Amino acid sequence: MKARELPAENRLVAGLLCTQVLAQLSAYLDGELSEAEVEQIRSHVQGCTTCEEFGGRFATAVQKLREVEEEVAPDTDDRLFAALGLSR
Ligand SMILES: [Zn+2]
Repeated sequence: MKARELPAENRLVAGLLCTQVLAQLSAYLDGELSEAEVEQIRSHVQGCTTCEEFGGRFATAVQKLREVEEEVAPDTDDRLFAALGLSR
């Protein structure tokens, strides 16, 4: 890929490019990265308004999905058990 094909928003902050941060965002949110990697991504996001905005929205969306999942799962289990006539 030629350098000129990179998006204009792709900045190099804290030793990471925006594309590298975005590529690791899902692993970051899942807590799969090492402390050093997490620190580097945080440093980038704090110094990069593009990632701050995008990452903030992405994290909020993922958080909402997880909250819904956590609320629904136990209730679904209860209904399943009830439907089968079993007590827990
Ligand atoms: Zn960035």
